Amino acid sequence: MKTIQIVIPVYNEEGNIAKLTESIINEIKLYNYSIILVNDGSTDDTLQKIKDIAKDNDKIKYLSFSKNFGHQFALKAGLDYSSADAVISMDGDMQHPPSIINLLIEQWEKGHEIVYTVREEDINLPFLKRLTSRIFYRLMNNISGLKLKEGMADFRLLDKKVVDEVKKFTENELFFRGLINWIGYKQIGIKYKPEARFSGKSKYTYKKMFKFALQGITSFSTKPLYISVYFGLMITAITFILYFIYLFYSFYTQSNISGWASLISTVVFFGGLNLTVLGIIGIYIGKLFMQSKNRPTYIISEKNIL
Ligand code: UDP
Ligand code: MG
Repeated sequence: MKTIQIVIPVYNEEGNIAKLTESIINEIKLYNYSIILVNDGSTDDTLQKIKDIAKDNDKIKYLSFSKNFGHQFALKAGLDYSSADAVISMDGDMQHPPSIINLLIEQWEKGHEIVYTVREEDINLPFLKRLTSRIFYRLMNNISGLKLKEGMADFRLLDKKVVDEVKKFTENELFFRGLINWIGYKQIGIKYKPEARFSGKSKYTYKKMFKFALQGITSFSTKPLYISVYFGLMITAITFILYFIYLFYSFYTQSNISGWASLISTVVFFGGLNLTVLGIIGIYIGKLFMQSKNRPTYIISEKNIL
């Protein structure tokens, strides 16, 4: 019988563990499966809740981080410790409905090596979250050349072949959505309706999302560097022409062009532009610095899986 593993990163999801594992167990009938819960340094009772369930059910496996390393690394750890013929990753808050699991498996049985999911637009989400998400995908696709779909999340099935490739990645800034798109293989997407979060609240604040977006964009492409150069060259060319226009104007009319306000705003504008471009360069240097340390991307303090 083929084996399936379900990897679920959880961070302060004490209210969701029981409900989640129960609905997954009810969903999968035909396969030999296990669930790998990755506790990403929760500060609530999540780990204890997991252990309680694992005590009575040997299909429940867990890894527990020594602190919070972030959702993407929890996912990576789950994949690193997986061994099944197919691995499904999903969120631990019931927003990724367990009832879809069988549809994912069905597509995999048809020969697709990656089955990703695309969320139908959720009208319950705040307007700002939907808007920022749309802008992000547009920008990301334009800059990185990837073809990410809006509403793609870390809810997907990966064949063992793909998982074995993913295990080799040692990047210390992970952006799975981009990585999976980049990796190739036979992929197919299925649509689903997101559920409401069962218990607790979202861990992705706008601040975290903005950082996530910047990291995602800059870890797949050096295009922002080129954009800075093109933009700089364009401005230099324009000001060069303006300079001659002004020169001839004052020479022939013997008068000065006044304008303190325009001068100041120009100076401030370019000050801002300078800082932005420097920041972009800084982000890339920062990445080099962090990666060169070659630290492990997560540390496991407890587990019941080999
Ligand atoms: N998560 C995690 N580590 C973190 C933040 C989130 O493991 O630092 C988990 C979280 O427990 C959940 C999933 O990642 O299972 C998605 O997080 P969340 O539901 O807060 O994000 P949203 O659905 O609001 O985008
Ligand atoms: Mg969620």
